[in-house]
Amino acid sequence: MPKNYDLIAIGGGSGGLAMAQRAARHGATCAVIESGPLGGTCVNVGCVPKKVMWYAASLAHSLHDAPGYGFDVKVGDHDWTALVASRDAYVRRLNDIYANNLKRLNIDYLAGSAQFSGPNSVVCNGEELTASHIVIATGGRPIVPRIHGAELGITSDGFFELQSCPRRVAVVGSGYIAVELAGMLHSLGAEVCQFVRFDGVLRNFDPIVSKTLMAQMRESGIRIVTHAVPHSLERENGTLTLQDEEARRFDDFDTVLWAVGREPNSHDINIEVNAGGLDGYGFVMTDDYQNTNVPNVYAIGDVTGRAALTPVAIAAGRRLADRVFDGQEERRLSYDLIPTAVFSHPPIGTVGLTEAEAREKFGETVKTYTSTFTPMYHQLTEAKPKTAMKLVVVGEEEKVVGCHVIGDAADEILQGFAVAVSMGATKRDFDDTIAIHPTSAEELVTMV
Ligand code: FAD
Ligand code: NDP
Repeated sequence: MPKNYDLIAIGGGSGGLAMAQRAARHGATCAVIESGPLGGTCVNVGCVPKKVMWYAASLAHSLHDAPGYGFDVKVGDHDWTALVASRDAYVRRLNDIYANNLKRLNIDYLAGSAQFSGPNSVVCNGEELTASHIVIATGGRPIVPRIHGAELGITSDGFFELQSCPRRVAVVGSGYIAVELAGMLHSLGAEVCQFVRFDGVLRNFDPIVSKTLMAQMRESGIRIVTHAVPHSLERENGTLTLQDEEARRFDDFDTVLWAVGREPNSHDINIEVNAGGLDGYGFVMTDDYQNTNVPNVYAIGDVTGRAALTPVAIAAGRRLADRVFDGQEERRLSYDLIPTAVFSHPPIGTVGLTEAEAREKFGETVKTYTSTFTPMYHQLTEAKPKTAMKLVVVGEEEKVVGCHVIGDAADEILQGFAVAVSMGATKRDFDDTIAIHPTSAEELVTMV
């Protein structure tokens, strides 16, 4: 007899763990099947080790800023190997904490890869398991471009394996990972050249943040090559040469990092057995309630191709567990108004519509308030990165539908403002809020 559960989560990353844990708290019997380390992308090769590297990079900036505040700082070498050892030890502690959390909630943890063997059954390590409900939470993996020599490059996964700081790096891509890793590598001592296909970075973001970031990255010494579509990669005399589609050659790299998006892990779960619907990119298609087209089989997180962020995977999983195992019939995640931060230098925080999206949706009734300034901290430092902000408001009541900030602490500032925007705050509500002085955030409640 196969072992039977109320819920099997395929994937023990942010989404699968969150759903299983919430379901167990509602009294469901659960199993989590994970083919890699527990915690998934976020904990092992994503948010967590990335943020550690970002903190290190931020410290490098602070060391350079310190003389402006009277410190006689001699910046010595940075020990990348020591940083990586501490970072990885921290990640291992988290892996253990996740395993203990499962134990505490009596959730069975199976280390191995799962494939569907029927509409309500999976096989893992040769053993069949059945469940009344199965959630696909298998996440995604980095895309490697299909060009000659691509295997000579690394992806973000390879970035976390680097045991020393590369001397000269080409970062290919213009999204979250490209700007974050380019910034960290540069701050920690590498010479960085970033290649983007069009005319800038973070093209889906409001220009107030993407343009300010691009200017700041260039100002800090990162070379950004625009209109460069990668064509091939070759090893020549021990270093790497990247050629673009216009036959421009860029040589002497010891590392080339592909950061050109991620694809879903849906290819090896035997989803066909369930006639589960994949879209043209391999993402598992779901409705507003995370249902796939097979009854009692759901999908959450990156594998669904919607807002590939950890808190989104967690929220989708928890709400689905509330709906399925706690009778909260209408409980579901709304994908509107998802706040997000980019851990660039300086960081970005944003929620809601860009100005262009708002104009497309609301036309002439859209108005914006902007502010660009050098924050007080940088009045005394040699580097002078700008802070820039935009509020996008709609209609006579000036409902705030977008809030975009780049600057020190933007990542922290935005969480609270996201609450206000989610609650439907107007510009007047912002104005009626007393400022906290002296901060950068106060600009958001004093804009004219
Ligand atoms: P995952 O966390 O990827 O978990 C899926 C798990 O399923 C994996 O562990 C995988 O091994 C397992 N699996 C796959 N197939 C099978 C199978 N057949 N059987 C068993 N197990 C299987 N998001 C943020 O919100 N903030 C950030 O700062 C941030 N930084 C990031 C930085 C990087 C470099 C990357 C790559 C991502 C970052 N993200 C960030 C995105 C975030 O990591 C993902 O959105 C999140 O991890 C998605 O969770 P998930 O549960 O959908 O998938
Ligand atoms: P993104 O989707 O953010 O960016 C990838 C970009 O690469 C594309 O938008 C595209 O930009 C460019 N690109 C695509 N194909 C090519 C190509 N062949 N050659 C050159 N450039 C190409 O993906 P990432 O991999 O950076 O990150 C994946 C997701 O993970 C993010 O979308 C985000 O959801 C999540 N993430 C979140 C983070 C956070 O919360 N701080 C951090 C890291 C990741 P263009 O069209 O301009 O060329």
